[in-house]
Amino acid sequence: MDLYEYQAKNLFARHGVPIGPGQRVADDAATAAVAAAEFGVPVVIKAQVKAGGRGKAGGVKLADGEVDARAKAGAILGLDIKGHTVRRVLVTPASDIAEEYYFSFLLDRANRTFLAMASAEGGMEIEQLAAERPDALAKVPIDPLGGVDLATAKEIVREGGFPAEVTDAAADVVVKLWETFVAEDATLVEVNPLVRTPDGEILALDGKVTLDGNAAFRHPGHAEFVDTEADDPLEARAKAKDLNYVKLAGQVGIIGNGAGLVMSTLDVVAYAGEGTGTRPANFLDIGGGASAEVMANGLEIILSDRVVRSVFVNVFGGITACDAVANGIVRAFQLLGTVDKPIVVRLDGNNAAEGRRILTDAALPGLSQVDTMDAAARRAVELAIEQDA
Ligand code: ADP
Ligand code: MG
Repeated sequence: MDLYEYQAKNLFARHGVPIGPGQRVADDAATAAVAAAEFGVPVVIKAQVKAGGRGKAGGVKLADGEVDARAKAGAILGLDIKGHTVRRVLVTPASDIAEEYYFSFLLDRANRTFLAMASAEGGMEIEQLAAERPDALAKVPIDPLGGVDLATAKEIVREGGFPAEVTDAAADVVVKLWETFVAEDATLVEVNPLVRTPDGEILALDGKVTLDGNAAFRHPGHAEFVDTEADDPLEARAKAKDLNYVKLAGQVGIIGNGAGLVMSTLDVVAYAGEGTGTRPANFLDIGGGASAEVMANGLEIILSDRVVRSVFVNVFGGITACDAVANGIVRAFQLLGTVDKPIVVRLDGNNAAEGRRILTDAALPGLSQVDTMDAAARRAVELAIEQDA
């Protein structure tokens, strides 16, 4: 889960990372103006969207006083930044900046470790720097058990080329960023810019944090960060029912057992629909058990997606054999009452013959069976196209 800048900086503050003299969020220009008046100093108005490059997109503006803050907030609210509409701005006192640095900790999956990245040349051109002069961006692997103490932190900022006179102050902040990273189960903590003020203070003026959703169970407090407005309503409902569901843009609903099988089902459906504009509508893995209730819940979510024209249920029987899954489908139809979109089922694997017989005998309305995955994908695509004809 990605956080907004203001949320990231609130987390930083809780771990002692200095973020400057306060921040307020505003949903409208009038509230932003009030916040600016209360700060009583020049402020920066910043678009709160989960995308980088806000400064370059006109989403970060300096405002001097209440009237100016209202105008600047008004100009930023409603902006489209890389496909994200700005619905909220951050108002924060403008800091005097002597230098801008870059710092991050991240999970380095490729190398199975954590990584610190640091550069004395931070700011809005960091992508260009990384591409053109990678040497100016230090990359230091972090021993997951040893972590980052003050000595390690000093080493990292030295490698990043931070000036000698800020080493101590910057290292102190780096240790606190590491504490944030570990304590919050983050996979990314990025500060760009980390600034030095003319009087030698180090401040995190921007923050990007990604929290590891798999660790959410030990952070009840992270629930406050869940962005219900941005979530797809179908995804939110699926989550409430404990389903592994991801909304996609197409028209063929997909249900499968096992994430790998579902991924390849998406591929074969996309392939079958190539050139027709017909694509998978979702990812949904109902797991190994595939009980009637889970099947019914999954079908219910998919059938309530207005864009869905047909559904492809692709099951490979393993420990849960096909006859159990077939009975689950029959029960799911009973639980749902009406099923008004065509459903193609492919059963294979353990007890496939028995499973197919159960479905044939049940003669469920709108349900057809196809025995191979490719042919079933083609059939589901055809049916989706017919529905629109
Ligand atoms: P983004 O990374 O999305 O472009 P930033 O938060 O990094 O947004 O802001 C862009 C630039 O705006 C920073 O590099 C910095 O120069 C300036 N800036 C951001 N926040 C402040 C602040 N509180 N005071 C002064 N300047 C700021
Ligand atoms: Mg930034």
